[in-house]
Amino acid sequence: MNQLELLWEYQQADVEADALEMSIRRSPKRRKLLRLRESYQDLQNRLKEIEDEVLAMMDRIDVLKDAIELSDDQLKQLQNRIQEEPATDSESARAYVEEVQKLSNTLNDFDEETRSIRKSVAERDSRQLDLKRRLVYAKDEFIPLRDEYDAEYKENMVEVEKLRAVAKAKLEGIEPEYIEKYNAIKQHSVPPMARLQNGQCGGCNMSFPSSVLYSIKAGKVVECETCGRMIIQ
Ligand SMILES: [Zn+2]
Repeated sequence: MNQLELLWEYQQADVEADALEMSIRRSPKRRKLLRLRESYQDLQNRLKEIEDEVLAMMDRIDVLKDAIELSDDQLKQLQNRIQEEPATDSESARAYVEEVQKLSNTLNDFDEETRSIRKSVAERDSRQLDLKRRLVYAKDEFIPLRDEYDAEYKENMVEVEKLRAVAKAKLEGIEPEYIEKYNAIKQHSVPPMARLQNGQCGGCNMSFPSSVLYSIKAGKVVECETCGRMIIQ
């Protein structure tokens, strides 16, 4: 057998191994698994996002709590001052009123913001709960299917490995440059070799000029100009 014939034999085995591996990768179970994993990860990401938001809100509530305490103290001090140094005229009375008003407004604002944040936190709590529940469901569906698929995959890959070993054995006696060329063509055309059929490339049906046909028949390495495959007589 010449080099091209040997390589052709190798290709048969190589294609068979690839086909089995591809069918394993394209199995409906795997596709479902990928879908489940995606939605599982999506739920995890959304949950993490909400947790981060809640943490930021809790930080803000802490800041507000300190600010409220401070304003409260200021208000108490002001009230003490008003008792110790009561207003003597309408102007100083108005000044006190304004000061008290200003502090109460600030306190109200802080209170309002705290309440609104607590409301947002509560709303996120319920979303978190919902997401956690859905995560549990997603996990319950995903994990068993994954384990089942993993077991099947392992089993199937044993078959693929057997076919790979058969293919590898067929490489024996083939010169490295032929193998390199085969692998290079395989990057863009699968399978990388095609039979000559009625003067045409068996891969893409391109007709060869007679000079090329002559080279092919002489057993030279010829690559199809259109699809790049190695042509074998
Ligand atoms: Zn071609």
